[in-house]
Amino acid sequence: MNVSALARKLNISPNDLLERLPAMGFHIGRRAIKIDDRTAQRVLKDWKFLNAKYEKEQADKLKAEKEEEEIKSREPIKIKIPATIAVKELAEKFELPVTKVIKELMKNGVLSSMNEQIDFDTASIVGAELGVEVLPQDGEGDVKDTVAEKELEEALEATDKKSSALRPPVVVVMGHVDHGKTLLLDAIRKTDVVAGEAGGITQHIGAYQTNKNDRLITFIDTPGHEAFTTMRSRGARVADVAILVIAADDGIKPQTKESIKIIKAAGIPFVVAINKIDKPDANPDKIKQELAAENLVPEDYGGKVITVPVSAKKGEGIDQLLETILLVADLDEDELKADPSALAIGTVVESHVDKGEGPVATMLVQNGTLKIGDELVVGNTFYGKVRALKDHHGESIKIAPPSTPVRISGLKSTPAVGDIIKVSQLNKKQKKAISKHDLKKEATAFAQTGSVEKEESDKQAMNMVIRADVLGSLEAIVASLHDLENEEVKVKIVQKGLGRLTEGDIDQAESSGAVVISYNVPVSPNVEKLAKDKKIEILQYSVIYHLLEEVKKRLEAMLSPEVTVTEHGRLKVLAIFRKEKDAMIIGGKVTKGKAVLGAKAKVLREDIPFGQGEITELQQNKVSAQEVTEGNECGMKFSGKPLIEEGDFLEFYSEVSRKKTLK
Ligand code: GDP
Repeated sequence: MNVSALARKLNISPNDLLERLPAMGFHIGRRAIKIDDRTAQRVLKDWKFLNAKYEKEQADKLKAEKEEEEIKSREPIKIKIPATIAVKELAEKFELPVTKVIKELMKNGVLSSMNEQIDFDTASIVGAELGVEVLPQDGEGDVKDTVAEKELEEALEATDKKSSALRPPVVVVMGHVDHGKTLLLDAIRKTDVVAGEAGGITQHIGAYQTNKNDRLITFIDTPGHEAFTTMRSRGARVADVAILVIAADDGIKPQTKESIKIIKAAGIPFVVAINKIDKPDANPDKIKQELAAENLVPEDYGGKVITVPVSAKKGEGIDQLLETILLVADLDEDELKADPSALAIGTVVESHVDKGEGPVATMLVQNGTLKIGDELVVGNTFYGKVRALKDHHGESIKIAPPSTPVRISGLKSTPAVGDIIKVSQLNKKQKKAISKHDLKKEATAFAQTGSVEKEESDKQAMNMVIRADVLGSLEAIVASLHDLENEEVKVKIVQKGLGRLTEGDIDQAESSGAVVISYNVPVSPNVEKLAKDKKIEILQYSVIYHLLEEVKKRLEAMLSPEVTVTEHGRLKVLAIFRKEKDAMIIGGKVTKGKAVLGAKAKVLREDIPFGQGEITELQQNKVSAQEVTEGNECGMKFSGKPLIEEGDFLEFYSEVSRKKTLK
């Protein structure tokens, strides 16, 4: 059929028809003149429906574009929100339709309804996308978070200028997966002379320091978005400078963009490390163009963004990167002041339960100096006295001045990563009350962030260690997993985090018998090997639904079967004909209901049940029977312990067990 003939039948112009057909799923070239008859018939038949759908899609698209335009053109707004907020309220504050906010959350991997609570970090990421600057509300919301953050902020700001001294800058490394964050952190670590002298031994304690031009630089050792979790305290910044790693053979990827957003939201300066320049297909210029397109114009393009070409693999450009970091940090010298004479306060960057030492945590001291014997609190909870301090070489140290990452032992319990921990000024009485009362309560909270949870109920638990690519997915996964729980089984997340699985995750999984889940992040070969050696299962997914299906299946297997009991009837035992080792031949009269071949039988004496067996043969008038009804006499073989006597009663019943399922 000619296209023009078909168009005439449909009462539209041929051009219009040719434009619409591909969108409706008919693969016809834009310049086609003829259309085969079968297709034409299908178009004619379904036209009404297809066209309505097409028009709706077009209208939706237009509307979305208009909304997008409106958002782009409106004045940037600033809002303050508490530590958590319902999606609906957030939309009101954003002055946007709630559907828009839900859609934006979805883009970031967070599936939520309008009444769901989301946390500050998520809200600020979505806010940045929608042109809204999200700030923490003063003195409200999550008390522990905001009070502690305020305190940290005050501690950093109230630094007495006279006693204040310059502290090493603290650096985080961010960027897309596989762009070389981990290798870059390793390469920088290798420049550490002290470690070199000690035979290259460095301990992974969550952060480390290296020396450049006789100055120390502190690196947060968890690459990627997880570093952001440790920079969670918004008021006071944990990191002073960020390194944004972009692979020269790849380019700006989703996690690069997310990192940019996070860095912007944190308001810290950054340096772009264009990595993998040793690769033959490396194209640093392309990266610079892409940066410019993101409004991050590199210096050599006339902008302000500093880029340093590096090869983490060959160790090239690392010196220049470190020098640049110092330069950038010094531009904001006021931020680098701290008071070493104050009581220590800082952020937890790593914590776990050590087999020998018990709970240990790495604190990044942000102000003051931490000493052995100091008493530590998180919020109002007493966490114990510093028994020993170790630096990132594993060497014992007595004091930790500002910007030092230090491993603390002597804690009663593990604080969570991101917690603000400080030296206590509480008196003895207050401390006792707090330690008794709160530690128990806190135990559950820890379970979700670091240490092994104590069994609290009789529910059967499936222990899990989870790693995901972005905060949004991690939160969505955790929430959906908990949704699977019922009164019998639960999901216990013994450890969770962003980025790749670490060897520590595998150790944790081993000690807690957990299943390991890696969502949308590749598993490195050494972790895979360790898991194999320890016989730890790693489940890898890139679709949340598939992950949930698998976990559901496993939880269902843990459910006890559902047993339905059907009662058949009752018989009075009138005679014992024969007694064998595991059976008896008896005779009796059915007094209620019926006797059923194959049914189970409970033996009752004076109405007290004391044994049970099964009817394996049944006869009425010496003829085999399936059932014998009320009022009739019968003979039967009772298989079970031969303890029946004349005058006992048998109660017949059947049990059907069925596998239970989760909703
Ligand atoms: P991350 O996911 O960002 O932490 O990336 P990794 O540090 O694990 O690196 C991902 C992969 O890229 C690994 O196979 C590294 O060996 C490789 N890689 C990292 N940096 C370089 C580099 O400078 N040059 C080359 N050729 N490969 C690199």
